Amino acid sequence: MTSQPASTTYPPTGELAPTPQTTLLIRNVRPYGEGEPVDIRISDGHIVEIGADIAATTDTVIDGGGQILLPGLVDIHVHLREPGREDTETILTGSQAAAAGGFTAVFTMANTNPVCDQPIIAESVWAKGQRYGICDVHPIGSITQGLAGTTLTEFGMMRQSAAKVRMFSDDGMCVANPLLMRRAVEYAAGEDVLLAQHCEEPTLTDGACAHEGAIAGKLGLRGWPRVAEEAIVARDAILARDYAGRVHICHASTAGTVELVKFAKDRDMPVTAEVTPHHLLLDDRRLETFDGVNRVNPPLREQSDTAALQQALLDGTIDCVATDHAPHGQEDKACEFNLARPGMLGLETSLAIIAKLFIETGKADWRFVAKVMSENPAKIVRLPGHGRPIAVGEPANLCIVSDNQTWTVDGQALHSKASNTPYEAMEFGCKVTHTILRGRVTYDNGTPADPRA
Ligand SMILES: [Zn+2]
Repeated sequence: MTSQPASTTYPPTGELAPTPQTTLLIRNVRPYGEGEPVDIRISDGHIVEIGADIAATTDTVIDGGGQILLPGLVDIHVHLREPGREDTETILTGSQAAAAGGFTAVFTMANTNPVCDQPIIAESVWAKGQRYGICDVHPIGSITQGLAGTTLTEFGMMRQSAAKVRMFSDDGMCVANPLLMRRAVEYAAGEDVLLAQHCEEPTLTDGACAHEGAIAGKLGLRGWPRVAEEAIVARDAILARDYAGRVHICHASTAGTVELVKFAKDRDMPVTAEVTPHHLLLDDRRLETFDGVNRVNPPLREQSDTAALQQALLDGTIDCVATDHAPHGQEDKACEFNLARPGMLGLETSLAIIAKLFIETGKADWRFVAKVMSENPAKIVRLPGHGRPIAVGEPANLCIVSDNQTWTVDGQALHSKASNTPYEAMEFGCKVTHTILRGRVTYDNGTPADPRA
């Protein structure tokens, strides 16, 4: 009789992998960047003491250097490419990139090969993440089988699997058929799962690769108009209202989407929305270089859109930041602009961008960052154990951020397997120095943890 390999049997119940029985003392950190520095003692994966000058009786001591302590970040929109494109990213390298960015939980999209449209695939993604122990990797199930947009997947079976799938999306593709989306919303309501929609009416974006505007016109690039996004946002908000399923708007990119989400929220429709760091920071002037690294879907828009998106994140119309981390190989990016695959890396630069836009400008504080990058995303997917307050008794999912460490982005030096960052050679003023997942140090000053044995 042969025993099954650990990779297929672990974790059998869908629970989290056991917490290592080590203790950790974090010295000299300021929770949320406020007040005098404190020490934090962690045991059995939880915060057990917060105070000044705690005695070092622990296995490991970290010196926080007086820096900012935040709850571990949560990203509800990444692409880790496993299974199918392990040449560009894997669950391991994606977990390490996530830890380097301050994340303790990520949700990985279903558009892998094979598509994550059944429990066995979701369970294998979940089990690998837990075995490595560097970041909680939650699989997102597809809404339709094979992302084909014709037949719904079994939300209930995936919800009840060891992976406990709590979010479904055909991201990369829009569930465009209104009757199918209506059925999905009804099914999601019954199973209490979240539907994340990639809002793109496909008949309006056929062959498009850039925001429809003056710059695309001048460059001769086929335009992707705002209405293609906004038409689906409006439709799905009304479906959510009428059939009581929770709908989440992926990567909001236009000022009109902001108005529609506000309209929906003002009327208590069960709608939430995310925005990516690149749609907050970059605009379509980037396209002048024809560099495929700037191709993304939805496309980079205009300055009036980035301004509206920034304001919407500040005032709570948009709930959270999600990176849409999308690794691609050189062969898929270093080609004609309209042939480049859409997508950009995001995990390792997102916190620096949010700090640049909101902290360094004085528009917001670190409590705001904790809210939009940890607390709100965890709430949207109803994820226990993450996005929690920094307090005694809470799970020790944390990151330490230095706000006086200038660094320059070097795609080759990122921990992701790919290097398609649009921020190459840009300088930022904030950097994650440590990440801690249930008491385990998963990132330490430039070095992500190795997978747990
Ligand atoms: Zn998408």
